[in-house]
Amino acid sequence: MKRMKTPDFNALLGPGGALETCIPLYENRPGQAEMAKAVWRVFSSGGVLLAEAGTGTGKSLAYLLPALLLDKRVVVSTGTKALQEQLARKDVPLCAKALGREVKAVTVKGRANYLCLHYWSRFLAEPLLKEKGEARLFSTVARWAEKTRTGDRAELKGVPDDLSFWNEISARGERCLGTKCPLYRDCFVVKLKREAEAAEIILTNHHLLFADLAVKSRAADARVLPDYTHLVLDEAHDVESAATSFFGTTASRRMLGELLRDASKAAPKERPALAEAISNAERAAERYFEVWEAGGERKITIEPRAIPDGEPELRQRLANLLDVVGHQLEAAGGASDEAFGLLERLETWREAFVFALEESGADYVRIAEVRGKNVLISANPIDIAPVMKEKLWTTLQSALLTSATLCTGGSFEFLRRQLGIDGAGVDELRVQSPFDYSSQGLFYVPERFPQPSSPEFLEALCQEALSLVQASRGRAFLLCTSFKNMRALAQFLETTIPYPLLVQGDEPKGLLLEHFREAGNAVLCATVSFWQGVDVQGEALSLVVLDKLPFGSPQDPLTQARIERLKKAGRDPFNEYQLPSAAILLQQGAGRLIRSKQDRGVVACLDVRLRQKGYGRLLMASLPEFQTTGDLSAVQAFFR
Ligand code: SF4
Repeated sequence: MKRMKTPDFNALLGPGGALETCIPLYENRPGQAEMAKAVWRVFSSGGVLLAEAGTGTGKSLAYLLPALLLDKRVVVSTGTKALQEQLARKDVPLCAKALGREVKAVTVKGRANYLCLHYWSRFLAEPLLKEKGEARLFSTVARWAEKTRTGDRAELKGVPDDLSFWNEISARGERCLGTKCPLYRDCFVVKLKREAEAAEIILTNHHLLFADLAVKSRAADARVLPDYTHLVLDEAHDVESAATSFFGTTASRRMLGELLRDASKAAPKERPALAEAISNAERAAERYFEVWEAGGERKITIEPRAIPDGEPELRQRLANLLDVVGHQLEAAGGASDEAFGLLERLETWREAFVFALEESGADYVRIAEVRGKNVLISANPIDIAPVMKEKLWTTLQSALLTSATLCTGGSFEFLRRQLGIDGAGVDELRVQSPFDYSSQGLFYVPERFPQPSSPEFLEALCQEALSLVQASRGRAFLLCTSFKNMRALAQFLETTIPYPLLVQGDEPKGLLLEHFREAGNAVLCATVSFWQGVDVQGEALSLVVLDKLPFGSPQDPLTQARIERLKKAGRDPFNEYQLPSAAILLQQGAGRLIRSKQDRGVVACLDVRLRQKGYGRLLMASLPEFQTTGDLSAVQAFFR
């Protein structure tokens, strides 16, 4: 690529620069300009930049400004919706102000966030509401649907996140009829795609980015993102898990049920054979998924001894009856475009099902998961590095991967191996956080404590958490590695602390955080989804307790498969996979505490392996430079 003249980032971001005039409480952050220059180099010359930028660096502006000066379309993908919204509401307008011009930016969320006009018109004709109270919500949605210009459900105020019929009316990709849809021209997703084509910055998230890449080769018109050659992956520590789920295939009971229901609604009256084929297939699907459901809620590797009795025969019967539905839809296709669309959906479902159960080879782990009434049969790639190379890296001119936590033990090696980033043209940058962790925070690991595997651990965890929460006067996140520990802790604290207690699952995540901030002295019990991407500044969060080191569960089929694969290759799964994964998550969990220069507080990790095991040193070395203590009275003194 031809090198372009480097803009003066010191003048833009430094003292007296354009940014200072736009921000009331401006702080000079030298690391920000350093990162912006490195980002510019990679954008203008090509290649990959891995940039670990400590919390408080101001990394969003450090990549948005070079992206806007590049004069090319840049896609920015985040791990969480919260960051995506922050970029759209705060950072992009700030850049526009600093540059003194308008910026064409568009936010693209996952398709399920948008209203599908086609399924909405169906639902309007025959609204199937599960409860009486939903009539009011239905009217709210109907009023909004009449006037919305974007179809983005974020505009819908006063309806719960888990609105029961949203699934029926959202523009999810697996139900979309694409160009066969009668409302294709007015479709919100299609309009959004056109807007994205004209934008210079596209703000999206990893889920949509990888879902879009996954459909790129098989259903180009189901894509939402236009082609792009410059990409920013923020919160890049999270890329592997997002990519794994989308580069695999899943066939679920819910998807098949919806498909057959949609087919049944669309079946022309003059085709009774189609209606009969659908109802036979529905019965066969019920019987098929019941054999998996009989084992109860679980997530298991599908291997010969895990196949339930009778499954092969029921699978064959289901396949035969879906064949009949396919033939009938094909025959009906002449009469309706919708039948063709449904036929394509059926083919996609069957391909995923057959691939997951029969065709995925040694590079995939096959998983059966029973989640409530849903059963998911999937095949996930064990190693996503080759897929990332083929589907992403080779299609780009430049990419920036950034996060506050990308390194383990000071090295990017783990990230590079995970994501298949190798060869020439890869630069690395580490920008230190401007926070003074040694005076702002204390890291507490008790001198003596039961091992996490011992029967006494849970009781000790509850007692220690109580002492810590009393010392901090509430204002605490208690982050657990399992629902079991979270529930036990919440149950114990319910009657022992005088502070508001919030528990993950009681309310949607956003609302829980809102209530936490408002209360000022609340205690929040949560699991792994709160270890990252959560930002609470100020005194409302002064204590973060981590129950134990976040090693992936060896019962998890994907973790198991990755460990086995490394073992077979004569490598060391603990040091090459389990330990670095835990180090990243531990940094993320501990990183919830200090979010600004004014924040102070304590991170407590109640896992003595940090002190007693050799690998504890590596994990400690990956953390910010807090002062450390093993003495509870030092924690109490800190809060006094
Ligand atoms: S094109 Fe797809 S998402 Fe858009 S209205 Fe039609 S079915 Fe819905």
